[in-house]
Formats: sequence, C-alpha cells, structure tokens
Amino acid sequence: MKETHADYVRRFQEFIKFPTISTTNDEATDFAPFSQFHEYLEKNYPLVHSYTQKENIGNASLLFHWKSSHPTLPPVLLMGHQDVTSAGDPALWHYPPFSAEIADDCIWGRGTTDCKHIMFAELEAVEALLSEGFSPAYDIYLSYGHNEEVGADNAHKGAVLTAAELARRGVHLECLLDEGGMVTAGKEKGYDGYIANISLAEKGFNNYKLYYECSGGHSSTPGQGSALGKIARGIIGVEDNPFPYRLTPLTRKQLSAMSLYVSEPEKSIFASPEKHWNELKKLAESDKKLDAILHTTMAVTMASGSQQANVLPSQAEAVINCRLLQGDTVESVLSYIRSHIPANLTVRSMYDADPVPVPDVDENGTYGLLSSVLKDMYGKQTILVPSLMTGGTDARFYADICDNLFRFGGFLRDNRWGQAHEINEKIPCDALPSGINFFKTFLKKYNIKNQ
Ligand SMILES: [Zn+2]
Repeated sequence: MKETHADYVRRFQEFIKFPTISTTNDEATDFAPFSQFHEYLEKNYPLVHSYTQKENIGNASLLFHWKSSHPTLPPVLLMGHQDVTSAGDPALWHYPPFSAEIADDCIWGRGTTDCKHIMFAELEAVEALLSEGFSPAYDIYLSYGHNEEVGADNAHKGAVLTAAELARRGVHLECLLDEGGMVTAGKEKGYDGYIANISLAEKGFNNYKLYYECSGGHSSTPGQGSALGKIARGIIGVEDNPFPYRLTPLTRKQLSAMSLYVSEPEKSIFASPEKHWNELKKLAESDKKLDAILHTTMAVTMASGSQQANVLPSQAEAVINCRLLQGDTVESVLSYIRSHIPANLTVRSMYDADPVPVPDVDENGTYGLLSSVLKDMYGKQTILVPSLMTGGTDARFYADICDNLFRFGGFLRDNRWGQAHEINEKIPCDALPSGINFFKTFLKKYNIKNQ
C-alpha cells in the first residue's frame, strides 16, 4: 500500500507527543514516556519489530539488528536519539511543546528537528524496504540513544553502551549515518543547485574550571580584592587570548567546497585561504560559524562566588566550555589556558575527551556512494560539502568500530524549519518524505554498488 504524506504526518506527530526528556546520568529521568514511545513504535512499525532483533540497552536505548541472509558486505548503522531537551517555559511557545500541533503547514514541538525526524525517517525507510521484500547483502543496525542531549558517565550513556556491545560482538561498520548536516537549496546564496553538508567529524568537548581559594571573611573589611575579582582577571585573560586561527585538512576541504557556491569576495578567500589569510580572519571575526571551525573555542559559561552579599567568597570559580579543534588535546588546551591566566589561579580539566581524528574523504568509497545518491536525488550540480561539526553527537562513540562516521540527516531543509533546542521548534510537513527517500535510496544503492 502506498503511504501518503498524511500517513507520515500522522505517525510523526505521535513521536513528538512523548516528552522523552533526558537528564544527567539518567538521575531524574521519567522513563514512562520512553516506555510508551517504545510501545508506540512496536505497534506502528510491525515489520521492523518482526524481522529485526530488538534489544533494550542501558535504561532506555534501543538497538535493532536486521540480519542479512547472505552477508557479503560490511554492515551499516542508521542512528539518532530518542531524547529531547526540556521545552523551557511552555508559555513562550506558540503551541504547546508536546502537542505536535499542525499550523502553517508545519508540525510544531520539541524534537521535531533535533532529532526525532531522523529516527522517524530511518524507521519508515526500513519498514518500507521490508514491505517491498528488499533483501540486503549486509546487516543493518538501527540505534537510538536515550541521553544524547545530556552528560552521562560511561555506565549510563546509551551510545557508549551500544557501541561497546557491538564491539564485544566483533561488529565493524562500514559507515554510520547520524544527525548533522542536511541538504539545502543553493538559491538563497545565488547558486543554482543543491548543497549537501556532510559532517565528517566533530570537535572535541571539554570543560575547564578556574578556581581560587582564600580565607573569605566579612565584606566590611575586604582588604585588597576578592577571590571573585581574581577569577574575573582569569576570565579576561582567556577572552583576550583566543586560540589563533588555523586550517586542518578537513576545514581546507570544507572551505574549498563552499567556494563553489558563495559569491565574491568569499569565493576567492575560501578557494585559497592561505593567500587571503587576513581577509579570512576578518570574515571569521564577524561570522560565529566560520570562527568556530578555525580554532579551539573557549566560552566562559558559569561563574560563582559567595552566596551572600556581605560575605567574601572563600572560593570562587568559573567554567570554560571548550570545543577542541583536531590537533589540540585536553592537555595542550589546559597549558594554553594556564599560560593566559594569573599565576595565582588554578585551572583543571573536568573531563578527558580529545577530538576524534578525521578520516580521509574517499571519493571512491562510501563517501562517493553518498555523493552519487544525493546527485541522483537532487541533480548533478549538487555540491557536497565535507564539513566539521561544531556541536557534539553520539556518533563519536562509534569511532573505534566504524570506518566512516557521516553526521548527515538526509533531509531537505529550508527556512521554515525551527531551530533545535529553541522555542517554537518545528518542521514543515512536506519535508518528511525527503528524509525517508534518502535513507531508502542510500540503503538500496549501497546494496547494488557493492555487488
Ligand atoms: Zn540531537
């Protein structure tokens, strides 16, 4: 039976109605919406549930395994996450955040663009392929974490547990597809064709804590400056000394691909960034996205001192959230910060996550296959932009068992979409088929091309 857009919309609305909000280390998570969501999936994706092996991992993560009857090719993983961030103040939303209301041809709600739409499109694609009798020459895995949006230790993080389980079984993936880049029409930028952003890597993530301890005391006799004042000097030291800009092999490729669709003067700058280094620096200083791919960023996000107005703090601290560019490490960033703050302040690293190295862009390998799928769907002039993702995804936890980590969601996106994590998150109803078609086409083409 041919699915209509109305069926897609109706089924996707239900995804949004489960408030699957995650919390740090699952400590305060209400798991009832997750269980109800799982029951809903079981009823609405009957073929997925009868032809694949489903496993619950950790507190609420899901792993599906579609086993090939004649596996001759390495397996593929389609992934995403079930959890969403909290909706903030519901009164600020035009429509209640878990109502999945339809207005202005869009479905409104938390999770519509980050990223239940991806989980939905993948499940729809696999359900459709099963109903068509598709017989892959490779195993297909589907994996959906329950706490991508929050910090969690290795014992709780759904993606860490899932990757560890696959590693234990000796599974090695040819590629995975996770949330990240999308397809957009180039016409807004003056390009007559489509642009597909394929994030091949993400930056590392670490927090650093600056702190200062002293005896504190009564604020009526402060003496020479307070602990908080000393922390403030440290913050200024950090903010006045951003990491210098530099190019990595991936950002060089990214700029070069972008040069194909932007207009002058960016066109020349992106095509030969070294030759136009000062112009590139100038551009990046007023373009946050460009700035973020050219160096390790340091954002001072939290600070604290005393809890009371008339008490001098005996301890003051600030947290610097850093996103590490490939080439920097947890240690190198620590010593960089140390060299730019007053010597009487202490700084320490709160986690240990060096950036995952970037695999090569292999035009003859699976990246090339992705390229041909997108050119079939969107035309020969489609430009693929291999790019660096500045945010984090669950994909990085699979780096040891996967050759190609494509953070690419497959959807055609336009300016009607609402923003992830913001109020009034929404997705146009007519965007849903683009994601489903992409995953179906990719899975079919992977089967043919490699036989
Ligand atoms: Zn997400």
